[in-house]
Order: sequence, then structure tokens, then C-alpha cells
Amino acid sequence: MDKLEKKLLSQVAKASSDFRMLEPGDRVMVAVSGGKDSHAMLYLLRELQKKAPFPFSLFALNVDQGHPGFPSDLLPAFFEREGYEYVIVKEDTYSVVTEKIPEGKTFCSLCSRLRRGILYTQAQKLGATKIALGHHRDDVIETLMLNLLYAGQLKAMPARLRSDDGRNVVIRPLVYATEAELTELAAVKGFPIIPCDLCGSQDNLKRKQVKNLLTTLNADNPTVRANVFAALGNIRPSHLYDLDLRRVMGVDEALEEPQTGGVANNVVPLTALRR
Ligand code: SF4
Repeated sequence: MDKLEKKLLSQVAKASSDFRMLEPGDRVMVAVSGGKDSHAMLYLLRELQKKAPFPFSLFALNVDQGHPGFPSDLLPAFFEREGYEYVIVKEDTYSVVTEKIPEGKTFCSLCSRLRRGILYTQAQKLGATKIALGHHRDDVIETLMLNLLYAGQLKAMPARLRSDDGRNVVIRPLVYATEAELTELAAVKGFPIIPCDLCGSQDNLKRKQVKNLLTTLNADNPTVRANVFAALGNIRPSHLYDLDLRRVMGVDEALEEPQTGGVANNVVPLTALRR
């Protein structure tokens, strides 16, 4: 095993143990779109499976969404050749998306929601205990920046999440892996890549802008991306203004001066002054 593969494998193992992604007896449904990231994820999870101290099983699931020119035979042939257990689900979300989204607008939001719904349903049907998605560290960083700049929220992508309906657990084993290294692995291994622009969607302009911004900043200081990612694990609730978070973390209680003799009774809440 070469250096790159070893590094990626240890990142997947660390992510899994940090966020309790893989557990004994899990049956993991690995969502494979045919892009480089999902191919790399499937490969790395199988390598990890061989070395893991507990048993878990894997199968690949591809949703054929009916995009024009989608090479339907490519992934089944690859899965067969490599000995992966797999399921192909055919659902024409392409027609739904092109009918509902006005021309010139990006399809991605509706397309991903429909695909996520299909994954959730299939996971239940096929008895999967976890659904693995191939988002990597750069996706996490870009999502954080997008939420910060355009949604007024300080949130990235969860490494492990129970779906809103409580039925599924989604994991992202590649959150510590960079896109550049996954691209390199995909090239070295010669995965059969299916381009994502078959759908004919416009580029997501804001994501592209954020990506360009990070690339520019990173060219000036190569630690920028790593710093943004590190910030996600280095939070100071006392320096943030989310009142629920402060309450849960007991921030303001911890900041209170010790009270002496009856002074506390004289404290007037500021909100009272406004009335
Ligand atoms: S790029 Fe195409 S296939 Fe991918 S999420 Fe967007 S619309 Fe769907």
C-alpha cells in the first residue's frame, strides 16, 4: 500500500472513530454516484473493512437518475469486476427536475433532495444501518463558508447525523480527506468516473465563488483551508452570540461574579429597563 493510500485510510479510520461512524455489525450502504469521491470512499471503506477490529458489511448503491447519456452499464460492470456487492436503483428524477426548475436555474438543490429521499427509502428497504456519503474536507469547508456568508448560520456538514425522521444514520467517512488527495487516488486506481455534468445543470455560482476565494487565499497562505477546518473543532462558545448555545454550555453562569450579601437581589435585568 502506498503512502497516499495509507494516509487516506488512516484519515477514514480516525473520522470513523472520532464520530462513531462504523460500529460492530453495521451494514453500510455506500452511495456511489460514479464521481471520484464516491469511488474513493467505496475503495477506502473496503480496505478499512479488511483491517477493522470488528466486522461490518458494505454494499454500493447507485441511483440512475435518468440523465441523458448516463452510461448505465459502467458501474455494474465495475462493481462485478471488483467483487463489490451492489444495487442499482433507476428513478427518473431528471424529468422531475427539468419540469419543475425554470431554465437557467441550477438543478442541484431539488436533484439532491430527491436523491437523498431515494437513498433513505432504499436504506430502509435494504436493511442498511448507515448511509455513507462521499463529501470530503473541502466540501465541508465550502459549505461552512456558504452558510456563513449567505445563510447567516455557523454550520458545516455533519460527520454523522440521524435523519430528521429518525430512521437513518448518515455518515461522511471522508471528512478528513482533501479533494486533491482523493483526486490523486482516483487517478492512480483508474476508477471509471462518470462526469457529474451529464445532468446539464448550471454551475452553482456561489459555491464556485467560495471555492475560488479559498483557492486565492490558500495560494497566499497554504494553511488557510486547514485553518478553516480546524476552527470547526476549536469553538469558543463564550465568544459567540448564540443564546441557546451559551445556556447549554453554562457560559454566562460561569462568567458571573460571586455575589456577596444581598447584592443579587438588587440586580435589575436590562430588559426590565426598556419597558
Ligand atoms: S450536478 Fe447534476 S446530478 Fe449533481 S446534484 Fe446537481 S443537478 Fe444533480
